[in-house]
Amino acid sequence: MDQLLNKIIEENRYLTELGKVADYIPALSKANANDIGLCFIDKEDNIHKSGCHNSKFTIQSISKVLTLILAIMDNGIDKVLDKVGLEGTDEPFNSFVKLDLPNIKKPANPLINSGAIVVTSLIKGDDFIRFQRIIDLAKFITNNNEIGFNEDVYNSEKATGSRNRAMAYLMSNKGIIDGDVEGILDTYFKQCSIEMDVVDLARIGKFISGGCKGLQVPTINNNELTILLKGILLACGMYDSSSRYAIEVGIPTKSGVSGGLMGVVPANRGIGIYSPSLDTHGNSMAGLGIIKALSRKLNLSIFNC
Ligand code: GLN
Repeated sequence: MDQLLNKIIEENRYLTELGKVADYIPALSKANANDIGLCFIDKEDNIHKSGCHNSKFTIQSISKVLTLILAIMDNGIDKVLDKVGLEGTDEPFNSFVKLDLPNIKKPANPLINSGAIVVTSLIKGDDFIRFQRIIDLAKFITNNNEIGFNEDVYNSEKATGSRNRAMAYLMSNKGIIDGDVEGILDTYFKQCSIEMDVVDLARIGKFISGGCKGLQVPTINNNELTILLKGILLACGMYDSSSRYAIEVGIPTKSGVSGGLMGVVPANRGIGIYSPSLDTHGNSMAGLGIIKALSRKLNLSIFNC
């Protein structure tokens, strides 16, 4: 297995040259475009790692999965879906062109920026408690108490986050989000700056694949929560390339602009990938090549016959 992972990394390394590291959050541009880290955790909990698997990176949009779990725990699914949709979109993750249309009452889904900001606003607690709960959930799921956040990336995003700020204020104006907009944004910027390595990401994937066991969810049973998460990840996890990805890879996955991919592999397995060079959708370029190859070689697609 370890040999296979090494081989797949090498076969896809050229892709790092074809993409671009995100620089709209200035601190992210410091990443090394050629880094590739990969982790696959199997049913028996064997951890297979390759490349720079020790590198830590901020999870960015992958944090939207954690906050969605908390918002559902706190409010139940119906209340969350009053404020955010479940549909995929062909617009980029940071678009809000449609949000100001009179017939649009909520963001398309919880995994684009506007939807994720709404989701963060639904987590109970003041700003401090909210972020504490997000970090605690990350520690619980990954079984890693060392998880923290990257202050440089947080400050960098907070200083340059005008687009997120604009959509949050628009949603406040439309009554989609309640409460202190700056406080909600602050929590959102912090959650995006949570740091992990590929093993932690693979653990999140395995946790969701295995049915979110051990999570105390008062408002929904864990099986329903798992079905919901897998469905949303498949439909929306790769932004405006989610449908093509579903067909070509068939693994419910969430990406982030720092170059992370968290894959929920069927039958209690998980994948974590890091490679910061991105395609035009904001998804890891080599990461896509690697997960596609893994899916084919190991028959991981949920659509396999
Ligand atoms: N922090 C990033 C942002 O708000 C997250 C986006 C992403 O990972 N696609 O723009």
